[in-house]
Amino acid sequence: MTKNPNTFLTDKKFPFCPGCGHGISINALNKALQELNYTAHDIIVVSDIGCSGLIDPLFATHTIHGLHGRSPALGLGVAMGVAQKQNKKVIAFIGDGGATIGLQHILEAARRNVDMTLIVLNNLLYGMTGGQISGLSTQKFKEIIDFEKDIPPFDLVQLAHASGARFAVRVNAPNKIKDTLKKAIKTKGFSLVEAASLCPSYGMKRMNELIEVVEEENILEHQRPATRIKDQLTTSLLDKTPRITPKYKANLTNRKGILIAGSAGGGAQSVARFLAMAGMYAGLQATMKGEYPITVGTGFSVAEVIFDHNPINYTGLEKPDYFIIVTQDGLIKVKNKLNKDSKIYIEEKLVTDELKEKYSNIIPVAFGKMANRKSTALAATTYVLNKENILPLEALKEAVGTHRLKDIFVEVIEKASQY
Ligand code: SF4
Repeated sequence: MTKNPNTFLTDKKFPFCPGCGHGISINALNKALQELNYTAHDIIVVSDIGCSGLIDPLFATHTIHGLHGRSPALGLGVAMGVAQKQNKKVIAFIGDGGATIGLQHILEAARRNVDMTLIVLNNLLYGMTGGQISGLSTQKFKEIIDFEKDIPPFDLVQLAHASGARFAVRVNAPNKIKDTLKKAIKTKGFSLVEAASLCPSYGMKRMNELIEVVEEENILEHQRPATRIKDQLTTSLLDKTPRITPKYKANLTNRKGILIAGSAGGGAQSVARFLAMAGMYAGLQATMKGEYPITVGTGFSVAEVIFDHNPINYTGLEKPDYFIIVTQDGLIKVKNKLNKDSKIYIEEKLVTDELKEKYSNIIPVAFGKMANRKSTALAATTYVLNKENILPLEALKEAVGTHRLKDIFVEVIEKASQY
């Protein structure tokens, strides 16, 4: 909040180290916006990660905080969203570290030339993590710190210009930043201002002036007009998701969690999805969550499903009510989660004396005899649903009915239900 209607800043104290250059650019932006007669409601400030990402609470405008290197992409999306609104301006901040991480996003925003301004606070290093060099650290700076001095920095201004930015400039003198920002903000299209920003904590220990190591660039401009964004009604992804109308009734009194543990290629993820859908066909709320290694073709495949009559706000499943363990990979993965309160349905071949001794709640079943390897998870899940009377199997059949292999799946369900 701010008590002064003429400022775009809140009353919060700047969180930066004493003498940090970021404050100069923030004050310059505040002044520039005042002189351009914007109101706080017109401005959407998008921030990144790092010291420059601490600005959100400082601005009394709309603010959004993004992921590292993604403020240009986030800003671009917002700018497209507000393109049809009168007098709205998106101003994104990023540090040189974020610009290094998210360089592609800057080039994309420049290429698209949507109306927004990106302010790159270049202090030549990653300040928040202790002063590591970035892709924008100049060779002169690297000579001073005697590190990688032969490797040139990215020239962000040239890159943005080459990508089609309407306006791109590097400025290193603090007293020029406000007027440069005014020009950039007035530009209709993508504008980038790289402002040299002193970091007393890490960058300035061995040099006196940032000007010594950051060379200014003339304003590079294209005459291309800003990309026109049509005001189009977009549909939500949820609108494209098929609706499930409850047709069956679940015999469920309270929240239940089911964990299916198998191997890659064994269908655990698909079965969990069918199971969650079956729950919805039975009028329940349902969540489904999968876990498997990055190499999706090998190793374990574990999936969790939760059912409840009430909305499920927390989808974690610390203690499943039912384990359905069909393979050794799955058992190894979930072994540490086993406990004495859950019902542990497990392929009988996997049961060892140690397991039996430790868990009297183990229920060995010959899942492997009910179906082939690819359908064992479905057969095992059918078996447990049937024994525990959690959901009508008709609901599960309805769920697999959406799949191209539905006839095979229905056959597996019918066979497993005989055991
Ligand atoms: S570490 Fe450097 S960039 Fe970060 S707040 Fe301190 S002076 Fe500023």
